[in-house]
Amino acid sequence: MIKYDYMIIGSGLFGSVFAYEATRRGYSCMIIDKRKHIGGNVYCDNKDGINVHMYGAHIFHTENEKVWKYMNQFAKFNNYINTPMANYKKELYNLPFNMNTFNKMWGVITPKEAAKKIKGQCAIIHNTPQNLEEQAISLVGTDIYEKLIKGYTEKQWGRKCRELPAFIIQRLPVRYTYDNNYYRDRYQGIPIGGYTNIINKLLRKCELNLNINFNDDQSYYKKMAKKLVYTGPIDEYFSYEFGPLEYRGLTFKTKKFNIENYQGVAVMNFTDYDVPYTRIIEHKHFEFGTQPVTYVTKEYPVSWKLGDEAYYPINDKKNQELYKKYYELSTTEKNVIFGGRLAEYKYYDMDEVIERALNVIKREFG
Ligand code: UDP
Repeated sequence: MIKYDYMIIGSGLFGSVFAYEATRRGYSCMIIDKRKHIGGNVYCDNKDGINVHMYGAHIFHTENEKVWKYMNQFAKFNNYINTPMANYKKELYNLPFNMNTFNKMWGVITPKEAAKKIKGQCAIIHNTPQNLEEQAISLVGTDIYEKLIKGYTEKQWGRKCRELPAFIIQRLPVRYTYDNNYYRDRYQGIPIGGYTNIINKLLRKCELNLNINFNDDQSYYKKMAKKLVYTGPIDEYFSYEFGPLEYRGLTFKTKKFNIENYQGVAVMNFTDYDVPYTRIIEHKHFEFGTQPVTYVTKEYPVSWKLGDEAYYPINDKKNQELYKKYYELSTTEKNVIFGGRLAEYKYYDMDEVIERALNVIKREFG
């Protein structure tokens, strides 16, 4: 009955990197995925020569040289730098929060003037910030919080900023320079040829089966391999024994336009609460496309219920405590490796998932 060394559940970055490293060492692997395509959320569909990011913008960025080199084995990266715009009721601001943003907001020109303005506004926060609202105000003051953070964050997460953890906003840099590069990382770009190509290379020697839901018949798939690598939701693996973990859902609406350029930038955030989507992505700009047509995706945050596609883990106290219970249970599970955004219930970026997979691989194979 045992046919493989590893049965891998989920063909996203974690599962695919694991599959590559295992097959390269001569282990046999089968990977299954419940979706009809490989790659999990990094999957791109090529339409009219444009790689359309089917599950939202995926911009690769990392500070980790090892991860960067690792990825460069499978693709060359272009020199795309993410410089998104924020659109608040048709007022446009540069992101992340930097001197260009401060200049547009207040007319200030020097870093000193900007710092003074922010200091005056954040004086209302006296202690260490306890939630996202306090954290945001203490970083950039009330004007930016009200126009560029509050509406966006509350619609993205479906909760008040006061009920959200501070760390979410710490992902964004605040800079006192005229620098619109969204990320702090040394390495950044979009893989030339697209993410799906990378996944294809990673899975080259691995047996692949799509449209299969492991959790429909766990014991059957478990019996097929010596070991399991599970990258699906951890609560689902344990049949929601302690109750379901919560997520934020997303809906993507993609449209083709017979024009060359729709919005002039790859990512535009809509920070006003009354606009139902959080961002519009114009995919061709990730690759400096010159096609006569363009594809544009509106990203709508939606409430999530069991059975829906899980996107962002809600890492609040209640859910973290619940996750801990599942995590402890998972440590008693023999011959199963849990990894990735869903199995670890973490708001991972792509590079962090790869780093995590490489660490697991090192432990597994030495
Ligand atoms: N954020 C914001 N306004 C923006 C962009 C981001 O307030 O225009 C906040 C929001 O709380 C969001 C967090 O910053 O959840 C992290 O943003 P990031 O772009 O890293 O989110 P992701 O791309 O992972 O969805």
